Amino acid sequence: MLGATPQTMGQQLGRRSWAEPWKIKMVEPLRVITRDERERALRAAGYNTFLLKSDDVYIDLLTDSGTNAMSDRQWAGMLLGDEAYAGSRNFYHLEAAMQKYYGYKYLTPTHQGRGAEHILSQIAVKPGQFVCGNMYFTTTRLHQELAGGMFTDVIIDEAHDPASLHPFKGNVDLRKVQALIDQVGAQNIAYLSLAVTVNMAGGQPVSMANARELRALCNQHGIKIFLDATRALENAFFIQEREAGYQNKTLAEILREFCSYTDGATMSAKKDSLANIGGWLALNDEELFQEASNLVVVYEGLHTYGGMAGRDMEALAIGIEESAQDDHMRARIGQVRYLGDLLTDWGIPIVLPVGGHAIFLDARAFYPHIPQDEFPAQTLAAELYLDSGIRAMERGIVSAGRNAQTGDHNRPKLELTRLTIPRRVYTQAHMDVVAEAVKAVYEHRATTRGLKMAFEPKYLRFFQARFERL
Ligand SMILES: *Cc1c(COP(=O)(O)O)cnc(C)c1O
Repeated sequence: MLGATPQTMGQQLGRRSWAEPWKIKMVEPLRVITRDERERALRAAGYNTFLLKSDDVYIDLLTDSGTNAMSDRQWAGMLLGDEAYAGSRNFYHLEAAMQKYYGYKYLTPTHQGRGAEHILSQIAVKPGQFVCGNMYFTTTRLHQELAGGMFTDVIIDEAHDPASLHPFKGNVDLRKVQALIDQVGAQNIAYLSLAVTVNMAGGQPVSMANARELRALCNQHGIKIFLDATRALENAFFIQEREAGYQNKTLAEILREFCSYTDGATMSAKKDSLANIGGWLALNDEELFQEASNLVVVYEGLHTYGGMAGRDMEALAIGIEESAQDDHMRARIGQVRYLGDLLTDWGIPIVLPVGGHAIFLDARAFYPHIPQDEFPAQTLAAELYLDSGIRAMERGIVSAGRNAQTGDHNRPKLELTRLTIPRRVYTQAHMDVVAEAVKAVYEHRATTRGLKMAFEPKYLRFFQARFERL
């Protein structure tokens, strides 16, 4: 099953192809600017794809965050916004959808995922405590550190190897968690921060067995587990596909079981949930919820909107329901795999197995002659834009930032350029164009030179850093 796409499965059956479970009702024209214009735009953006104007982009694979195409039902929901300051009916719809699909007791809405991460970190991390997690995520770790926490990576070693074919490369290494407990004591661990799928490892899943074992270990030591549920439904798809005993369960059933092993979750609803904005923090503990519900008023908005408009909460409530449909997720991940299969067929180095939301080009293997301090993944994103107007994102040394103690670059093993696929936005023909553009850049790789950083902002530098060509 690994690597099989709905298309190839259809071909094996003899003749039937697969297609998206929707048709298009409204279109948004795309524009391609000339190569000279792209060269100028790239220089003006300091070789950072985050600083390009979207009007200068042809196919935008910067992120799957907030870039989802909403359904006709979600747009209809937008007209049912109850914009009351307090107690909006859309909040109660959202709360019910979260409780039904994710299964937590209490909901605190936030403007997006990092709002939830901020509040959770403030109420659950004491200065000097450790937070362990299955590979860091940029905003998650920053909020943990701003609250005084020290992040420790406890993901399995295979996650750091772009060629390892481990089916659940996002798994937590329980021995690493045990070693940290032995070393610092459970009381000095704020909580375990469990992300599914693991974005920075290439969208890699965590197995149900791993979550269950982690729960047992954490129970022994009184450690709470908070889930980053941003792509938990994509994770459920991989469990359904790869883990014994789950083939006949629905994604909704798998999601409920998975969440049941955790004490709460932060959510960026701009991903799985098919919305353009939104997020939430969910908790089972009433006391912690009271604290969250109080703090949200300070930073986000009243506890029944948390920075979202009523209409956004309605679109999100409907989006949660649509995102849990099995045929939706098959098409979503099927499209990502279609692109991955084209690239691997051409021998282009990508992170394998292909994850849920993106193709991650292995920039180290792509540009072996460019040292990591000359930003190979940033270079690759710039080259791809120059070639074809396709926008990707760096996920390597720039994203990893600096060590909070020493001030030196963090040097991650993975030096990746991410082609992130927005949900329900592009067609298979767009994926063909993307694959061919990557191939063209790959063919010119030997003459490509790296970059130097010309401006470095203090926080989350990958968003706003500027570069110059070497
Ligand atoms: C996007 C993302 C976040 C942060 O959410 P925002 O909505 O962008 O603030 C947190 N965790 C993961 C895994 C993400 O992909």
